[in-house]
Amino acid sequence: MRFCVKCGKDLERTIGGLCTDCYLDGRKFTTLPHHVDLEVCAVCGEYYLGGKWAPSGRRKAAEDAAVEHLGALNGSRVKFVETFSEEQDPRTYLVKVISEMAVEDVEVEAEASTIVRIKNTVCKRCSRIQGSYYESILQVRSEERALDEDTMSEIVSMVTDYVDQQSKVNRQYFISKVEKMHGGVDFYLSSIALGRIMAKMVSDRYSGENKESAKLAGRTDDGQDMYRITYLVRLPEFKAGDVVVYNGRHYKLVRIFGTGGRLLSLKDFKEISIRRPDMPSLKVYRKRSELKDATVVSGGYPEIQILDPLSFSTVEIRVPEGEMIGETVKVTDIDGVLYYVP
Ligand SMILES: [Zn+2]
Ligand SMILES: [Zn+2]
Repeated sequence: MRFCVKCGKDLERTIGGLCTDCYLDGRKFTTLPHHVDLEVCAVCGEYYLGGKWAPSGRRKAAEDAAVEHLGALNGSRVKFVETFSEEQDPRTYLVKVISEMAVEDVEVEAEASTIVRIKNTVCKRCSRIQGSYYESILQVRSEERALDEDTMSEIVSMVTDYVDQQSKVNRQYFISKVEKMHGGVDFYLSSIALGRIMAKMVSDRYSGENKESAKLAGRTDDGQDMYRITYLVRLPEFKAGDVVVYNGRHYKLVRIFGTGGRLLSLKDFKEISIRRPDMPSLKVYRKRSELKDATVVSGGYPEIQILDPLSFSTVEIRVPEGEMIGETVKVTDIDGVLYYVP
């Protein structure tokens, strides 16, 4: 049989020589520092909590910061906390943390308070954005002299949408600068990985060709060589909808995807697949925008009658089965003969 050294009560087991009541009496099981500094980014408004920057409400952030600094007495375990806060001024909160604790096999409630002071700073990401930091450049150019405006804005939205989306989960991702130049567009990107992803995405979409080059840009804080990578994506002249020549035959380029494309023969309207490595052999015969509109005189199948847009004489051209024919159709001439372009 043992006894409590303080009150003398006999008992089976003691905690540090004391009975439970004497052990718990007046003891502080949780501690908090006198004050806690909480950083908030003055630019994006995110808070530095748990070792990373994250969005939060002001009061919630203050309470979380207090809990983060909560200390528990050796041998005790915090099971659950509840926080109460009182705003003293917009940058100062008095936060009380009430903890449910397990000490040995006894449940105790403990209370501690601190003052949380909110300090303005600029997070790493915002300071990098402000400093136009970049690790890679995505350069998009065209085989033609210049990238047309439509394609250019399509690519700008594609890249910015993707980065906007991804930056919500990966704070390392941002665009420092978008620059239209030399008939193309340059994106200054925050990471090498992002440059690689975007280069693949853009070239897959248009069946472009990729090149990358590295340039020594200085040293990192720990003395390593730091490289910037430039990803050059050269877009082909052809686009979906154009009439192209492949192996001496004329086709409509129906679709482009990451692994190649689909071509539709203008002679018999049969489709064939073409692999990505063979895509560069496609030559543009007529851009979609250069195709002529011909007025339809009468419909039918397998031929319809149209007015030749140059001579205005009536000619018959073949159309695919089941095609919906409107008042005008797109046509192209090949060796002096008109062909229907779906
Ligand atoms: Zn006792
Ligand atoms: Zn920030």
